[in-house]
Amino acid sequence: MIRAVHILLLTVTSLLAAASAFGGEEIVVYSARGEQLIKPIFDAYTKETGVKITFATDKEGALLQRLKAEGANTPADMLITVDAGNLWQAEREGLLRPIASATLRANIPAHLRDRENQWFGLSVRARTIVYNTQRVRPGELNTYEDLGGPKWKGRLCLRTSKKVYNQSLVAMMIAEHGAAEAERIVRAWVGNLATDVFPDDTKLIEAVAAGQCDVGIVNSYYYGRLIEKNPALPARLFWANQKNKGVHVNISGAGVTRYARHPEAALKLLEWLSSPKAQNLFADVNLEFPVNPRVPPHPSVAAWGDFKQNLIHVENAGVLQADAVKLMDRAGYK
Ligand code: FE
Repeated sequence: MIRAVHILLLTVTSLLAAASAFGGEEIVVYSARGEQLIKPIFDAYTKETGVKITFATDKEGALLQRLKAEGANTPADMLITVDAGNLWQAEREGLLRPIASATLRANIPAHLRDRENQWFGLSVRARTIVYNTQRVRPGELNTYEDLGGPKWKGRLCLRTSKKVYNQSLVAMMIAEHGAAEAERIVRAWVGNLATDVFPDDTKLIEAVAAGQCDVGIVNSYYYGRLIEKNPALPARLFWANQKNKGVHVNISGAGVTRYARHPEAALKLLEWLSSPKAQNLFADVNLEFPVNPRVPPHPSVAAWGDFKQNLIHVENAGVLQADAVKLMDRAGYK
């Protein structure tokens, strides 16, 4: 009997959801975050609100091109992408619109959202030091800058400078130290390389674990994926720069498109994504950190320990991206 009532309730709920979706509320999202990362969250939103969400996923460059080409005819209401550098680019190309929302301002720290309210961080990604536990003691580590010092000669691994994550890291270093000092540091890194740069963070962590190099710089969620598969991996994260400015962080985030056909519905979705109930859905699926400081990270992410994050505004990743690319080229960082 209880089971029958339960099934009946479920049926009524689905019918209501379907009716409401049919009733017109729908949102179209372009996402550089993969389907496996966003579909479960959109499904939860549809279940809760009845609002239907259609999405297309692609690389960020392709999505920006598509939004530009479609112009006022775009079906997209929302753009989701990773890295503040990409969101800043979308804003600069006029693809987003400013939205005033007290909820977004309350849920998202000021350094992780656009000053013009055109894009908003939804999860935090930390780019920090990874080290081989058999060859390095954590007490020997300190800062990103220090990885250019003589003790790391022939022991450092880096991912390619073509990846926006490193462009953002160097952009932040320019903002913090000035271009000349940032270039000196990057040159010192290049001089310490154990081997050619890596195409991705996962291969870099595997090289650190294999002893091909002793230290490297990676996004923590790549480490999380590997350590879930192999808890015995002889590699650990070290939270960089804790005695000064803090760990370099970036975001994955979103904005409402300039020509959105359903801007109010898109804003409501954005506010929901920043709320405590959705934050863990959004961050945990990729082992990232919630952007909302009131929401604790997933226990396996929390197990890596607390850290202080650098509070420099993430828009610097965009503003100084071109300078960072040129600087890395001058410094011989491939
Ligand atoms: Fe990534």
